[in-house]
Amino acid sequence: MRNWEANVRKVTPYVPGEQPKVQNLIKLNTNENPYPPSPKVVEAWKNMNLDALRLYPDPTVHKLVKAIADNYGVEENQVFVGVGSDDVLAMIFMTFFNSQKPILFADITYSFYEVWAKMLRIPYKKIPLKEDFTIAKEDYLQENGGIVLANPNAPTGMEMLADDLEEIVKQNPDVIVVVDEAYVDFGAKTALPLIEKYDNLLVVQTFSKSRGMAGVRIGYAMGNPQLIQYLNEVKHSYNSYTMNQMAIALGVASVEDKEYFEETIRKVIETREWTKKELHKLGFSFGDSKTNFIFAKHEKHAAKDLFQALRSANILVRYFGQPRIDNYLRISIGTPEQMQMLVDFLKKYLKNEESLSKKER
Ligand code: PMP
Repeated sequence: MRNWEANVRKVTPYVPGEQPKVQNLIKLNTNENPYPPSPKVVEAWKNMNLDALRLYPDPTVHKLVKAIADNYGVEENQVFVGVGSDDVLAMIFMTFFNSQKPILFADITYSFYEVWAKMLRIPYKKIPLKEDFTIAKEDYLQENGGIVLANPNAPTGMEMLADDLEEIVKQNPDVIVVVDEAYVDFGAKTALPLIEKYDNLLVVQTFSKSRGMAGVRIGYAMGNPQLIQYLNEVKHSYNSYTMNQMAIALGVASVEDKEYFEETIRKVIETREWTKKELHKLGFSFGDSKTNFIFAKHEKHAAKDLFQALRSANILVRYFGQPRIDNYLRISIGTPEQMQMLVDFLKKYLKNEESLSKKER
């Protein structure tokens, strides 16, 4: 071993869902939106002044901050923008979680939280969800150095009770409580109004899911101006130019097209509810998803087998081989046609398996 090896920050990286380059793949594994960004985004892309790419982008990201602030009826100094919500969340961990006390998050939640905590040497404690994957609010009333709640949670898709969430924020005035609302637009209640009431709350959202712009990388946090200022100070101590000119222009165009945004969400929700009914008929069970995915298990068939069977039929879903959830599949909501193909395949597969097992008996 070389001597410098001892000085390497050794980390176990987050593993994102696969992005295979297979043709005709039905890709239901990373909760992307099946619909393209707004036509206004496409127009903005075509109208981009490429000569301006010589110049550095605006380090304050003012146009996009303003568009987001106007959209939600908050002040510009209540908005922080980053390269996807992953960047925003990492910045929040760096900025606010510097105590000796452990930060708290659920045992089954977005697995990046643990990766950031380890990388930044932040002590942390994983709080087990209840058996039915709901959150026990009492668990978050113990001493801690900060709290991170994904709401709706991922990969379970379940929303927490609004009163429980407020109680957690209220009872923890000395630490920052982060609510990761990556999926909130698909039918859950946002905690945003609470930022006016609690100065320890940050609400984080993204353009990756409901706005169909995962490839552009835009996320944002909203909270008390003092928190936003601290975040900007850390950002400017790290990289002033996180947001490139294209992302800023496309982001503004997306926010300005409310109609398309609402229409896309309506379609995804409609397809989700259809898929729920069909999966139920096939013997799957799941909680009440308020997201663009369904976290389901089958009464008779192991998730791993189903995952592999689907994969061999070019339908990619997400399987986490982790304790407590190793019998679940996370299925992102695609177009109605894609979901029909998923259901058709499962129908055929399950029927086949059943007749095979009858023969064996
Ligand atoms: N939070 C949760 C709960 C997520 O599932 C994701 C998507 N992987 C993110 C944050 C990050 O999304 P993005 O960086 O694309 O905004």
